Amino acid sequence: MHTYQNFIAGEWIAAKSGQTFQTTNPADSREVVAQYVRGEQADATGAIAAAKGAAAGWAATTAVARGRILSKASQLLESRKAELAELLTREEGKTLVESSGEVQRAIDIFRFFGGLSYTLGGQTIPHDLPGNLLFTRREPLGVVALITPWNFPIAIPAWKLAPALVSGNAVVIKPASQAPAMTLELARALAEAGLPKGVLSVVTGEGRSVGAELASHPAVAALSFTGSYAVGSAIYQQLAPRMARAQMEMGGKNPTIVLTDADLDLAATLVVKAGFGLTGQACTATSRVIVEHRVLEPFLDKLVAKTRALKVGNGLAAGIDMGPAVSRQQLEGNLAYIDGAVKDGAKLLCGGQRLTDGDLAHGWFMQPTVLADVKPAMRLACEEVFGPVVAVLAVESFDEAIAVANGLEVGLSASLVTRDLKKAMLYAERIEAGVVKINQISTGLALQAPFGGVKKSSTDSFKEQGAGAIEFYSKLKTVYLDYSA
Ligand code: NAD
Repeated sequence: MHTYQNFIAGEWIAAKSGQTFQTTNPADSREVVAQYVRGEQADATGAIAAAKGAAAGWAATTAVARGRILSKASQLLESRKAELAELLTREEGKTLVESSGEVQRAIDIFRFFGGLSYTLGGQTIPHDLPGNLLFTRREPLGVVALITPWNFPIAIPAWKLAPALVSGNAVVIKPASQAPAMTLELARALAEAGLPKGVLSVVTGEGRSVGAELASHPAVAALSFTGSYAVGSAIYQQLAPRMARAQMEMGGKNPTIVLTDADLDLAATLVVKAGFGLTGQACTATSRVIVEHRVLEPFLDKLVAKTRALKVGNGLAAGIDMGPAVSRQQLEGNLAYIDGAVKDGAKLLCGGQRLTDGDLAHGWFMQPTVLADVKPAMRLACEEVFGPVVAVLAVESFDEAIAVANGLEVGLSASLVTRDLKKAMLYAERIEAGVVKINQISTGLALQAPFGGVKKSSTDSFKEQGAGAIEFYSKLKTVYLDYSA
């Protein structure tokens, strides 16, 4: 078992209350993975004070100097990649292949923003008069808070921390309590790489105490959150009265549309990967498959065959395609959605059961599940399940497919499978989503490209990832200088 303290003002320290909590392995709940500090409001307040104290000194360093620390941290993480991936799998449950990919993503993100540091700065703008210089300065915001979910426990903290730090902010981060280890390991790497004390603090603990303090403290100039709509919208309202900058990235109900002209083998492969990879616990997971009626039967045959072929088990074992749900609560929620959908008239084509054979009985395993005859008004077609459950809806035309896809209040990722270039381009124009994928899985992002949702999936005023991520973490000042006299 690992034991972690909070990381505040450059020191590893216990909670003021002395309380702790533990995480267990979702693949085998008998195994305690790690023990953490149960931070409370006072711990968050202390971390914010440390950040406030360190902010000016950090802001006064150059972006290039800050970038060097990120690049060094990237190397340190790389030297520990295998160990971190194993710990990630033990704590969150995804397969070792998925965890290794995610740790690599964090390594690459730190490297990317380390390099980007050489390009950060303002812009020179032509003035209308001679002897005048007009330019912008890019400046940090001060103290920035980050609140992250459990499903990408290293990638999401990394894609917020790297642009926040390279922009010159002091940061307090609160990871989700289901899987905090990776955030503390990022802090360890950054500290070893030379990050000054107080510039980064990690406070573990409950959302309603630690998270609420980060949302409401007047010294926090900006807060970037990823998680559920319920929590994100509540935090947004806490930030609004003091006009703190807000970035809320929330859930989706991502469609993959399969048109009559699609390569049906490819379509089934994409849906299986995007629906059941990461146990369906991705914000960009495919959860609605909208299929033109003429190819429904052959598509379903292929989808069911590929789904049944998936191997479910402990993500540390070789050859496993899908790990467990993150918790008993998540598993029970997934199964309840399936029961509800069947009661609403959906047809269960495969899966639908908890898996309890042998060692699986100690974990939160279930079968990957496909339900057909789902109608747009059913709960399963409207709400995010966040598990390995795919709902298939039949439509008569491309236009109806887009209308069904756009019929919800969320818009994160949306995929289309077609060989028709015109329809692909029309789809890119008409679909209401922040990420559009054509003949690709709805999950999976390029770290160098902007990412974020639209509608109720995001506050959508700033994008995450890519070079543009620094927009959220910095402000521009416009300077007019007259040297004509
Ligand atoms: P969650 O909203 O339950 O928790 C997210 C974080 O908020 C956690 O750290 C939690 O402790 C904290 N929190 C909870 N209550 C709080 C409060 N009152 N004040 C402040 N902080 C509080 O979400 P989750 O279950 O960890 O993650 C799953 C959700 O995240 C899904 O809806 C998923 O779609 C979404 N998600 C979105 C993206 C994206 O980029 N759009 C990426 C990954 C996950």
